[in-house]
Amino acid sequence: MLFGKRKQSLRALLKPIIPPLCPLCHSVIEADESLCAPCWKDLDFISDPQCSACAFPLECGENTTLLCGACLKDPPPFSRTRAAFRYTPSSRNLVLQLKYGDATHLVPLFTQWMTRNKDIFQGVDALIPVPLHWTRLVYRGFNQAALLARSLSKTTEIPLWASLLKRPKKTASQGTLSKEDRQTSLRQAFYIDPKYRPFLKGKTVILVDDVMASGSTVKFCTETLLTAGAKEVRVIVLCRS
Ligand SMILES: [Zn+2]
Ligand SMILES: [Zn+2]
Repeated sequence: MLFGKRKQSLRALLKPIIPPLCPLCHSVIEADESLCAPCWKDLDFISDPQCSACAFPLECGENTTLLCGACLKDPPPFSRTRAAFRYTPSSRNLVLQLKYGDATHLVPLFTQWMTRNKDIFQGVDALIPVPLHWTRLVYRGFNQAALLARSLSKTTEIPLWASLLKRPKKTASQGTLSKEDRQTSLRQAFYIDPKYRPFLKGKTVILVDDVMASGSTVKFCTETLLTAGAKEVRVIVLCRS
């Protein structure tokens, strides 16, 4: 974290001397550009039509309800989801830079992309990041979902409730458990301190995460929030795979 901050301030100091570089291919870009033109083309930003519940991109006219097949079959507990872009080799690179590469300087850019669609923020009382188990937090030094949530909170002026949802139980990484065991372990992973429950009662909140794949993590976070008294839970992620 400290190292990240130092790197950031060094970057700020060197800004007038070295030109900005494209975060994907490291070619020189104009100061007001976020990516070089070829890399920009490689990013697959999600626009309508998309599943209103889980933001899965839909083909035109796939169905009239604008829910994907999976959500029609098994409706998720969250009411809607917005994602900035699809999972592609380029977006994977950006997400990994955020997750493991200490690329916290990309957060303002990601925030810009995540707030292009303002609908999801209407009538929302708080933003809640998907928590990391403390051992992973110590190992990595930061929670990328919390970084995104903090930045989104600054931009939208919606309060950030960073410590409301906790992850006291460690979930085994993918591959070591069967799908069913992993679901059970995730279901039991999240917790809300009873002293925070009165704040949550009747509130509409947005869960913030970097990537949404199967949606299991946000599903179990949502169930925990609804059980503790939230009225509605929405989801915003950077990348939808
Ligand atoms: Zn580039
Ligand atoms: Zn869906």
